[in-house]
Amino acid sequence: MLLIHPPVAKLGEPPAGITALAGCLQPHGIDCTLLDANLEALLFLIGRQADARQDTRSDRALRHRDANLAAVRTPELYRHPGRYHKAVHELNYALQLAAHSHLGVSISLTNYQDEHHNPLAGNDLLNTAETFQNSLFFPWFCSRLPPLLDAVKPLYIGISLCYLSQALPTFALLGFLKDRYPEARLILGGGLITSWMSNPRWHNPFAGLVDHCIAGPGEEPLLRLFSAQKTKTHQPPVYTGLPLSSYLAPGPILPYAASRGCYWNRCSFCPETAEQSRYQQTPPAIVLDHLHSLCRQLQPVLIHFLDNAISPLLLQTLAEQPPGVSWYGFTRIHEQLADPDFCRQLRASGCVLLKLGLESGSQEVLDTMHKGIRLELISRVLAALQAAGIATYVYLLFGTPAESLAEARQTMEFTLRHHAAITFLNLAIFNMPITSDEAHRLPGTIFSESNLSLYKDFVHPRNWDRRAVRIFLDREFRRQPQIAAILRRDPPFFSSNHAAFFTENYP
Ligand code: SF4
Repeated sequence: MLLIHPPVAKLGEPPAGITALAGCLQPHGIDCTLLDANLEALLFLIGRQADARQDTRSDRALRHRDANLAAVRTPELYRHPGRYHKAVHELNYALQLAAHSHLGVSISLTNYQDEHHNPLAGNDLLNTAETFQNSLFFPWFCSRLPPLLDAVKPLYIGISLCYLSQALPTFALLGFLKDRYPEARLILGGGLITSWMSNPRWHNPFAGLVDHCIAGPGEEPLLRLFSAQKTKTHQPPVYTGLPLSSYLAPGPILPYAASRGCYWNRCSFCPETAEQSRYQQTPPAIVLDHLHSLCRQLQPVLIHFLDNAISPLLLQTLAEQPPGVSWYGFTRIHEQLADPDFCRQLRASGCVLLKLGLESGSQEVLDTMHKGIRLELISRVLAALQAAGIATYVYLLFGTPAESLAEARQTMEFTLRHHAAITFLNLAIFNMPITSDEAHRLPGTIFSESNLSLYKDFVHPRNWDRRAVRIFLDREFRRQPQIAAILRRDPPFFSSNHAAFFTENYP
């Protein structure tokens, strides 16, 4: 089986989806070949002689691209934020130049857009598959896929479609594969497919192109396709065959998911809650075994826990039995993290950064969205983490149904009061998941007329719509000097994927 991670997604680390699938399928006797098409195709485009305009910026981006690619793979660059910013912006520009002759198409290190094709419209996706020869990626398809497919001869080709930025390139890839390798069975899975398929109105528009669409974890459905029984559980991911030294990071990053779903699973704004994903956790002792063997094999410079929220039990285990490599991940704010001694122990275990969903500085808003955290606890957690030297990546969410300008200002005041304990900030504007309970309660229209929309536009009950939120963020929130200083720290394009390398305690 050939498993493909399609473009466009961030280039900092190996993909989690296909490596986890291979980790389960291979011990059951199913041969898997991994292809990080995202990494390979974007490097191909960056390296290609672009039809460059003769201006200084293009010239500089193309002239420096090899040096920038080399620099971004060394720890040295991350000690100089100014040089880092320049290097990644130039690389991004070199990539943008590759789309120069494709009218209406824009590509960056994080996104792909085509003004003629909507990735949330089934017909546009099918049209992209039919006209695959027009794809920006077509030259890469032609140079890379024929020799690989001739060598592997896969019965099945699985594509892991997780982000909207991957949708149009994925369908161009599907069109190419269907045309050139009609004998291979095409399978589509991943987070975006899962979200589409969890909509009760889902009617598969891709039946003529894709042989199987899989929602949720793909392991068991894939084993069934091969008529295999799942006899082995909690297998570690497999990274064999991926070009680990080519990712854009100062050394290998090991992505590892110790759980799927979320143990809290109650926040009203969250797709995990709306999609009713089942929580599955790997026992901490097995997690440690996996990490030790993967670290021996890959020699990572950083472990990235992919869990929606690292469980308190796993945090405790990591604090007591450090994995031996610096690590970071998302966790819920809870009492354990308000204990300064525990935070010091976590720091000593290699924890350099924790991502925290704070969402709002209004207790009423937090309660309405069933976040299950108190502001006074958040204050104590931030203080304990700061004292221990653990950096924080704090996520705020504006424009939820319970919020108005007054509550948004409370969030701003809370952020300002705690600015010294907040290392990085992510600001998001609320989207109403189409499958959420609230989407049925609040009046409004479908977010777009496309048949694959994930979100619903709604009439905000307190007149606090997206436009008003944007104005507040641009004219008030971002202009606070302490907040602006935090926002400036965010690594461009790579954001949280590179943030740990800019923390004080990263070795
Ligand atoms: S804790 Fe995070 S992942 Fe879990 S339900 Fe809330 S927002 Fe979603």
